[in-house]
Order: sequence, then structure tokens, then C-alpha cells
Amino acid sequence: MLLRNSIVKLSKNVKNSQIVQTQQRFLNLLEYQSKNLLRKNAIAIQDFCMVDKTGATELDNFHVKEYVIKAQILAGGRGKGHFNNGFKGGVHITQNRNDISDIVKQMLGYKLITKQTPKDGIEVSKIMVAESVNIQRETYVCILMDRQRNGPVIIASPAGGVDIEGVAEKTPHLIKTIPIDIFEGITDEMANELADFLEFKGDLKSKASEEIKKLWNLFVAVDATQLEINPLVETDDNKVISVDAKLNFDDNAKFRQREIFNMEDVTESDPREVEASKHNLNYIGMTGNIGCLVNGAGLAMATMDIIKLHGGDPANFLDVGGGVKEDQVKAAFKIITSDDNVKAVLVNVFGGIVNCATIANGIIAALKTMTLKIPLIVRLEGTNAIEARKIISSSGMNIITADNLDEAAKKTVNSI
Ligand code: GDP
Ligand code: MG
Repeated sequence: MLLRNSIVKLSKNVKNSQIVQTQQRFLNLLEYQSKNLLRKNAIAIQDFCMVDKTGATELDNFHVKEYVIKAQILAGGRGKGHFNNGFKGGVHITQNRNDISDIVKQMLGYKLITKQTPKDGIEVSKIMVAESVNIQRETYVCILMDRQRNGPVIIASPAGGVDIEGVAEKTPHLIKTIPIDIFEGITDEMANELADFLEFKGDLKSKASEEIKKLWNLFVAVDATQLEINPLVETDDNKVISVDAKLNFDDNAKFRQREIFNMEDVTESDPREVEASKHNLNYIGMTGNIGCLVNGAGLAMATMDIIKLHGGDPANFLDVGGGVKEDQVKAAFKIITSDDNVKAVLVNVFGGIVNCATIANGIIAALKTMTLKIPLIVRLEGTNAIEARKIISSSGMNIITADNLDEAAKKTVNSI
């Protein structure tokens, strides 16, 4: 995981403009999934039902006075967003049941573009229809793991809602950040102080403080890295309600949060990335035409730089990491070569923990199941490299070998 994170970060820093698909470091859930977790933990939310692209709808049994219809995508800023069919707003309110299907029709299957989505937007395949609340005030609460402080912090603002970024920029005094002792959690004093700062008055103050403590309990229980409620609202009937929720989870907790990780919606992800993660491999898509199979983030960066130096452009990186097995190499090779943009493949492995013979056998196994129509350049160095070279040369396959990275990169670029 660390490798994957560092490779994403490194490649983002160095060649930011080239990255078309970056990997998500933390599991991200859609709003309705996050809200189900909130509900389970007795945090006040609006009742809701779901409508999806397959035509499945729970709407028939859902009757309230006023409805709020919300497109579900893994990005915020939906209220102010627009669709690629011209329809405005990913959040709509109506009292008329008959309007719902019209609104849903304008959202489902279309791409919603917000400040937080890629510029083409994200296709909407699920819609939440919730009971609308009359909002008196919108506040902001976010609990997150803060690297600088080496622990959780809670960030709060009485000026929540759709423009929290603007608040942070223009009126930073309206934002308070309090570090949380992970063992003590959010104490009564802290919760009261926060409720005060959020300007909840009278019995709303104790309600807000209860909600904040419950949010903390949820944060810990699900191994979240971030739990953002924007807005946490005060309603005209004296309630404190989490109207929007965004939860991210620590990948390292996957083993004990199976139920949550099984909820992952991969429809928005690059299918190659999904396939790679199934095999415990790290895939990064780029815009060039050289497919790269490497081990380790550092070597990936070096490989990219040398390819560039020789006038080439990587199409992707597949980092096979440390203790890789032959069938994973086979899968990796298939993922790389399944991309039509890839016009040559460079395998650059420096065997340390990785056994070069495993890589060689994996490649040969993959080649036996396919007809590779593009040049394949292989540079294997380090642990068991001699054996690996033998495996490759005796395979009879059309593989170009190289003794060092510079030569390998040159041969790859020239092969196209
Ligand atoms: P986001 O734009 O993706 O952050 O989506 P939100 O769920 O936060 O909704 C955006 C905004 O729509 C909120 O900040 C509210 O101002 C408004 N909104 C959302 N739900 C309701 C609701 O039930 N009633 C009312 N009156 N406004 C709502
Ligand atoms: Mg919001």
C-alpha cells in the first residue's frame, strides 16, 4: 500500500499533467452508503430511498411532504454542479411527487460536472430521494486523520454549506481546528465547546454536542480517515441533522472492515485499475504509448524519466511490488497489453525481494496465452537475473532484452 501511495504521489509531483487516472488512496463511499453507516450509529439523518439506472426504485413506498433529489457520485459540490445535458444542479428540492421522475430522468445516465469532478464529469447511476428538511442554518464538521499532527483533528465552522472552501480562504477565523487525543476521543467539554462555536443555542446545543460525539464514535468504529458533514444543519423544527456525509476509510483496515470495503462501487474507476487491485497490483494510467511493468515506486519514476529522456512517453505503470507471484505477473502483463494505446511494452525489474525468474516465468506464461503484436523489451537485473535471462532466451519468444535501463528505454522508444 505504501508503495502505491508513494508512486501516486511521486508521479503526481513530477509529471502532474500526464496523470489521467490516479488511484484513490482511501476507500470512498457514495453519500447514501455513508448515510447508512450514520443511521446505524444513531446519527440523525433524513429518511431516504434510492432510484437507480436499472430502473429499480424504492419510491413507491416513500411519501413525504417535500423531497430532495440528489445525484450520487464520488465527489462533492453537486448542488452547484451541472450535467452534460445542460441540466443544472445535482441537488433538487420539490414538493410535487410528479416532478421527481422528470428530475431523475435528467440526471440518470448523464455526467455531473462539479468543482471536484474531472472536467468531463462523472456519470450518475444512482439517485437518492430524501425527505427534505427546512434548514435554518448550515454548519460544517469534519473529523480527519491529520498527518502533521500525527492523529485525528476535528474541524468545525458555523459557516457551513456549499461554499466552505471560500470560508476557509476569506474568513479563516470562522474555522476552528481542535486536535483529538485518540484514546480520550471527543470529551463532553470539547463537544460543548464545538457546539458553542457552531452557534447552536439552548437545547440545540446539547443536541449538536451529542451528534458530534456520535460522529466521533463512528469515525473510530469504521476506521475512517475522514468523516465530513457539510452541512450539519439546524432545522426549523429544532433538530440537528447531518444533511450531507462523506466518509473515507483507511485501506489498512480492510481486513477488519470487510462489510464496508465490500460496498465499494467501482463503476467510476478505471477498469484496469480495478482488475489490477484484484491481483494486488498497482496500476497508474497515463497518456503516452509505452506500457511499463516495474517493481517499486522509485524505479517507476526512474523508468519514466529515462523513457522521456529518449523521447518516449509512458502509457501506464504497473507496479508489481515486492513478493509478487507468477500468476500476478501474468495478470499484470495482460492488463498492460489490453490497452490499445500501448505500442510497446517495457519490463524493467530490479530484483531484490522480487525474484527475476518469477517475473520471467510470469511473462512467458502470459505470452503463451496471447499473440503479442507489439515489441516487448525486458530488462531484468538483481536477484536470480541470470536464471531469468536463460528462461527468456530459451523460450523462443520474440523478446528484446537489454542489459541496463538506459539501453532498455532506448530500445523501447526506437521500437515504436
Ligand atoms: P453537495 O453540493 O455535493 O455538497 O451536496 P449537499 O448534500 O451538501 O447539498 C448541497 C446543498 O443543498 C446543501 O448545502 C443545502 O444548502 C441544500 N440542501 C441539501 N439537502 C437539503 C434539504 O433537505 N433541504 C434544503 N432546504 N436544502 C437542502
Ligand atoms: Mg455538501
